[in-house]
Amino acid sequence: MAVDVLSTQDHITLAESWGAHDSVPFPVALSHGEGAWVNDVEDRRYLDFHGGYSSINFGHRHPDLVAAAKAQLDRLTMSTRAFHHDQYAPFCRELAELTGTERVLPSNSGGEAVDTAVKIARKWAYQIKGVPDGAAEVIVADGNFHGRTTTIISFSTHANHRAGFGPFTPGFKVVPFGDIDALRSAITENTAAVLLEPIQGETGVVVPPKGYLTDVRALCDESNTLFIADEVQCGLARTGATLALDHDGVRADMYTLGKSLSGGLLPVSAVIGRADVLDVITPGDHGSTFGGNPLACAVGRAAVRLLATGEFQERSRELGAYLHSRLNELDGVSEVRGRGLWAGVQISEERTARGRVTEALAERGLLCREDRGHLRVAPPLVITREEIDLGVSMIADALA
Ligand code: PLP
Repeated sequence: MAVDVLSTQDHITLAESWGAHDSVPFPVALSHGEGAWVNDVEDRRYLDFHGGYSSINFGHRHPDLVAAAKAQLDRLTMSTRAFHHDQYAPFCRELAELTGTERVLPSNSGGEAVDTAVKIARKWAYQIKGVPDGAAEVIVADGNFHGRTTTIISFSTHANHRAGFGPFTPGFKVVPFGDIDALRSAITENTAAVLLEPIQGETGVVVPPKGYLTDVRALCDESNTLFIADEVQCGLARTGATLALDHDGVRADMYTLGKSLSGGLLPVSAVIGRADVLDVITPGDHGSTFGGNPLACAVGRAAVRLLATGEFQERSRELGAYLHSRLNELDGVSEVRGRGLWAGVQISEERTARGRVTEALAERGLLCREDRGHLRVAPPLVITREEIDLGVSMIADALA
């Protein structure tokens, strides 16, 4: 299935020469994927425990998504929001119905959705809450990851995400994740919103203390503050529920979605939420050439149909419990965090001192992300129990 005759090393060398050096990709060049598996250009096969940072929740090239994309490619791919088209309104309605929300504002990347949610929160603060112009604040959590735009990195606490990119956008306050007292102290009459990942993904699949998200909701209600849940990574069945906040029975005023909203076929993201909040946006306030395009909406509708079956949420719950029990048995692991088919596997200091684990995993046929001393395990939700066993045995072997 290789699409050209270049070797892995050729691709690495070419990427170094012609691509910007924004990343240090793991030295493997992928050419083909199906379900929970990917092949490289030399036709080595790997079990995918990375899952495209949770953009492949339905597996690589899920047939329903590919069929929807192909059908739409033969009809219409682009209109812009200058015109109506026959996929936009159905997509908005179906996504809103799936998530119990009232308005949908489609965009492309996850970062774009977060940026848009911040804009909406600020406008809501001025128009509805009565915050003096220019004074709106958004409170975020330490260790957050919401994307890479100039505004978003302005409130990042990862030093390397900010270094060299100032001046930064003002209007953000950072509090420790999971500390409700710190949040209470930080909220003022100028607070527009609290923006949180219900489970922090990039930082290592960090789950807040029990009751925290319910308390955040209550604080937001008491202080007339919006709660924005960034579910770009934790949403859409990854944790075993359609939205991660559903586990706590908590509703946000706005959610940001991305990644698996297209099942990894193309960039599709959205801000979804309460009508009275999103309706502060009026024509001309905001725009995106590709946001809500026909191809994106057609694929998004197919993803929503898959989620509406509940099958992926159930797989994540059941197989996730199994995955966590297996990972907890491993030697060389100090902690396993997360929920559903999503785990931050903290490698013991002793094992970390002996070098990275991902190389040893790839040699055995497993791809996984390793960052800040943890493996981030996020396999496609189509993975089977046997494939989990296989993957965990490769991790056990690599840690030994
Ligand atoms: N929000 C969260 C929680 C994320 O994990 C990410 C990406 O990993 C983003 C936003 C940014 O998404 P994108 O890379 O599509 O801009």
